[in-house]
Amino acid sequence: MLNVILFGPPGSGKGTQSKKLIDKYQLVHLSTGDIFRQNIKDNTELGQLAKNYMSKGLLVPDEVTIKMLEAEVNKTPNANGFIFDGFPRTILQSEALDSFLASKNAEINVLLAMSVDEDELRSRLKERAIISNRPDDANPEIIQKRIDVYKNETLPVMNYYSNKNKFASVNGVGPIDEVFARLCEVLDEVHAQKNLN
Ligand code: ADP
Repeated sequence: MLNVILFGPPGSGKGTQSKKLIDKYQLVHLSTGDIFRQNIKDNTELGQLAKNYMSKGLLVPDEVTIKMLEAEVNKTPNANGFIFDGFPRTILQSEALDSFLASKNAEINVLLAMSVDEDELRSRLKERAIISNRPDDANPEIIQKRIDVYKNETLPVMNYYSNKNKFASVNGVGPIDEVFARLCEVLDEVHAQKNLN
């Protein structure tokens, strides 16, 4: 299995790159944001709960998010591996993911971060708001809140995996295909290392 956390601030391009990566590496894409949005669309109980947090730019509580993620992973027991997009977003989620995967004799192979400066993020999200129909993209205050939450709650996840020597980072600014090539270079390396062990 190849299990990758695709990591980066809101607007860094995780969704776009995940779609390309799953094709190339035959992985399953798990985006907690997408799953929450689907639940909101379907008006499920989970969706109603998530909406209260998402519309304010806040994180959905860990307990709910972790339970949902585990259920999603269990839906594809024969997967080659997963791209986790938007998860884990807190240290608690990271610990839960690690022990959940360990219970399946699996692990995270790498947290792959895309770095994009804040001005570029704000302008990308502003543009995305026009086409995405996402209420949390439409309001500059909510966007700023999401960036702040990222810095305070989510950035520590990077150190968590860096301390385990499972961290790599690429420049997330540039044409989509160039960023993709940078990500593939790292993943090919991780894959090769894994097969050596
Ligand atoms: P982005 O990273 O571009 O802001 P996402 O689609 O990943 O967008 O997430 C949108 C929102 O969904 C987040 O702001 C948060 O409210 C909620 N969310 C997504 N993933 C998680 C998670 N792992 N834990 C808690 N909340 C989450």
